[in-house]
Amino acid sequence: MDPKAKMGLETKAIHAGQAPDPVFGAVAPPIYQTSTFAFETPEQGRRRFAGEEDGYIYSRIGNPTTKMFEDCVASLEGGHAGVAVASGMAAVSTIMLGLLSKGDHVVMTDTVYGPSRLLLEHELSRFGIEGDCVDSSSIDNVRAAMKPNTKIVYVETPTNPTLRVTDIAACAEIAHEHGAVLVIDNTFASPILQRPLEHGADIVMHSITKYINGHGDVVGGVIVSKTEELHKKVLRARIYFGGNMDPHQSWLVLRGIKTLPLRVRAAQENAGKLAALLEAHPAVAKVVYPGLDSHPHKALAEKQMDGPGSMICFELVGGYEAGKTLMTKVHIPTLAVSLGGVESLIEHPASMTHAGLSDEELEETGITAALCRLAVGCESYEDLAADMEQALALL
Ligand code: PLP
Repeated sequence: MDPKAKMGLETKAIHAGQAPDPVFGAVAPPIYQTSTFAFETPEQGRRRFAGEEDGYIYSRIGNPTTKMFEDCVASLEGGHAGVAVASGMAAVSTIMLGLLSKGDHVVMTDTVYGPSRLLLEHELSRFGIEGDCVDSSSIDNVRAAMKPNTKIVYVETPTNPTLRVTDIAACAEIAHEHGAVLVIDNTFASPILQRPLEHGADIVMHSITKYINGHGDVVGGVIVSKTEELHKKVLRARIYFGGNMDPHQSWLVLRGIKTLPLRVRAAQENAGKLAALLEAHPAVAKVVYPGLDSHPHKALAEKQMDGPGSMICFELVGGYEAGKTLMTKVHIPTLAVSLGGVESLIEHPASMTHAGLSDEELEETGITAALCRLAVGCESYEDLAADMEQALALL
């Protein structure tokens, strides 16, 4: 199916970028597990390298299985083209390395996934790139942080783990007024719940390790650009820095993505009910979930998202000690980092996913010692609720 065709998200997730195999008619996409591709003639090899003829050369540059996946995600996000890479962090670094030069400046959401911030503050800074991290959920902070040399505004929304929501359209306006590019990490929402390019963003990226693959068995990333110009810069960085996705990995993700809309909605339904259960429980001090009336950004989430998702954060009355007990007493959510799979996972951000941040940064970003993060999966709600209630009763 033509990835640019106007179809529903369910149809695109199953068909976009894919057609039955032209050689044997295989309905499932073949895994083109090859490093290199034969040329019919030396002249054809020359033409392909010169960009005068379409066709494959070498799998770091492009691969048919990976291309099917890239076209499928680009179609779901409504973008020009996709570039698949080896991990979500490879997606962040490929964007930064493809678009930035020495002396450039980045404005970043302060509560992004910990390593994305560490990449900016500790790694890119070694190459003369500077950055400021701000609470982008308050748009004035973004405006105030812009400098004449700001080239990228990098926003994660909703954020990991505090679920703050940033106004994508307002950020796009500010970025564009300053000639900068707006990049959105859309990992937490997935294109089923949020399509940032529709709100003015220029590039959207994912850790596909999470919802897009959805089965906890692949680490990968993808970058979708709105324009050919940006796509070429990102693709060049993928080719020269070499963070490409393997064809077998692409095939697994192509299989996972077919059920993305179904999984995202099933997990979201569970999360909505679990968030309400937690909020009403006397052992719980605070619940953060964009679908609850108590969430400060609920209205904005409703405006730019098609649902609040399936990530919940909460603090227990008994603080970190109670959290440690809960994390070991629940039987269905597994004590593990990551999210977006069919299985529920529970973790402690301050000592795990965000352990690289200083105490000051943790305090500023609201990642308290008491905060637990629950990635709700697609298990039966009744089982998740009974399990959570028995664990809470032990506190
Ligand atoms: N972005 C977000 C929002 C994440 O949650 C993660 C990982 O948890 C990443 C990026 C990095 O992805 P990966 O672990 O696939 O490198």
